[in-house]
Amino acid sequence: MKLFDNQNLKEYNTFGMEVYARQFLAMDAADETSDVIARFLHENPYYILGGGSNTLFTKNFDGTIVHPAFGGIERMEKKDGKVLLRVAAGEPWENLIQYCIRRQLYGIENLTAIPGLVGSAPVQNIGAYGVEVKDTVWKVEGFVISTGLPFSLSNAECRFGYRNSIFKQTLKNDCLITYVWFQLSENPHFTLSYQGLTKALQERELPLTLRNVSDCVRKIRDAKLPDPKIVGNGGSFFQNPIVPAEKHNELTKTYPDLVAYDAPDGQKKLSAGQLIEKAGWKGKQVGNAGTWKNQALVLVNYGGATPQEVLDVAETIIKDVKMMFDVTLEMEINRI
Ligand SMILES: Cc1cc2nc3c(=O)[nH]c(=O)nc-3n(C[C@H](O)[C@H](O)[C@H](O)COP(=O)(O)OP(=O)(O)OC[C@H]3O[C@@H](n4cnc5c(N)ncnc54)[C@H](O)[C@@H]3O)c2cc1C
Repeated sequence: MKLFDNQNLKEYNTFGMEVYARQFLAMDAADETSDVIARFLHENPYYILGGGSNTLFTKNFDGTIVHPAFGGIERMEKKDGKVLLRVAAGEPWENLIQYCIRRQLYGIENLTAIPGLVGSAPVQNIGAYGVEVKDTVWKVEGFVISTGLPFSLSNAECRFGYRNSIFKQTLKNDCLITYVWFQLSENPHFTLSYQGLTKALQERELPLTLRNVSDCVRKIRDAKLPDPKIVGNGGSFFQNPIVPAEKHNELTKTYPDLVAYDAPDGQKKLSAGQLIEKAGWKGKQVGNAGTWKNQALVLVNYGGATPQEVLDVAETIIKDVKMMFDVTLEMEINRI
């Protein structure tokens, strides 16, 4: 492991916030975990940081940042046309996507180009274009920080939900994920429920292959989302709100074009991006922060924004959306 004092975190968060951590610990191997927990994480504020693409640092961090920097993809046993992969927490998510495309393993191609590391993927159950990572996670290995004991949780035990899991509930900030196991298919199958994706494939007259689906997803994303290397951002800033069916019915009387998807228990999931756009926020800039011109759900650092500027924009959006639709937006991003 490597330990640094007073580390600038600008390169470790996609919002590009220039904040400092009192201590920064980069782990080189999963088997350092017990030692790291015992020596650094007791009676000391800490935060486990992957690629920092779902984290908004709101101030300097007076504690230890633990960054699992160990990667690796191991192919484990094969069962009934399914292949198990054991992937280390520090492996960049995109490396796993490319590994699967090269080896013709189906299941996560719709999640192409989501920034971040593999260890973070189950935390908020990343999802895009009709697929969630829970559809392929076999189990998750790690350590409970408060006890120092190892755990291995099956898919069901991870209690995955929409942008949710046990790692955001009972194990929130109390676990260090070391490995994620994925179960992927060798038999071709695609998830094409997202209209924009099928349309893009048809328009380009591309045959249905893993590579083509992945390339199309990337093109759609590139057109909609800012590249964090150029414009700082943390992807979707808010979750899509889930409302009772009656509330949705009532809203469609005033807004007949309201986008809504079926959600559990007969509820409806609204598009946070559409609500924010209707509230007049698409592409709006206040000081150095604002929303992205092609996707109102993405808050951006237009250059030199302070955490407070980003939070002020977020709070005003929440207020405006509440006033217009009587719907409360919840932030998806982790604020530290
Ligand atoms: C441009 C852009 C597009 C995006 N698109 C999507 C999208 O389509 N779908 C989607 O779901 N998300 C999307 N995101 C959000 C983000 O990329 C994902 O949530 C990603 O999984 C975060 O990975 P990370 O390593 O950067 O996480 P971080 O921000 O470093 O951490 C996120 C959370 O996971 C915890 N964590 C990280 N590593 C570990 C570990 N090893 N053990 C325990 N806890 C850990 C952290 O403490 C924190 O709570 C996008 C973000 C950006 C910037």
